[in-house]
Amino acid sequence: MPSHLFRQAVEQAALAISITDARANILYANAAFARTTGYGQDEIVGHNESILSYRVTPQLVYETLWAQIQRQRPWNGLLVNKRKDGSRYLADVTITPVVNEDGLTSHYLGMQRDVTEVH
Ligand code: FAD
Repeated sequence: MPSHLFRQAVEQAALAISITDARANILYANAAFARTTGYGQDEIVGHNESILSYRVTPQLVYETLWAQIQRQRPWNGLLVNKRKDGSRYLADVTITPVVNEDGLTSHYLGMQRDVTEVH
């Protein structure tokens, strides 16, 4: 399968998708991520995912998240997030480690959905 097809598929996915380095600095965000967060795709690149934190999710949730993904296991949970305009939304977030040929976590894949209405 040609790689531009991967790119187009991810770019146009209905789910908000981001790819980060091993410290959660955003390298890529798709169009749905921009729609969900209010940040333009180019403007969010270089920021840490923590820019999305509304600062009310208990610290323990983040610690569990990091403990899990550092063990190269996916994590799924709910985070209280903040859009660019300051408004709050509840995000159903799944983070999957991207493991390289040497068995090391080089990146993370983040997928999220606004579930404010559901809860
Ligand atoms: P941080 O300074 O990030 O630290 C909080 C705690 O997390 C620390 O006490 C530590 O235990 C742990 N921790 C943080 N970074 C590391 C690290 N590099 N290595 C080991 N442990 C670490 N957060 C959101 O609020 N909303 C999101 O939508 C969101 N999406 C994410 C998507 C991806 C792909 C990844 C990898 C992370 C995402 N995060 C998200 C988590 C985010 O990176 C922050 O950890 C979180 O927002 C807390 O930020 P903070 O500044 O309060 O604390």
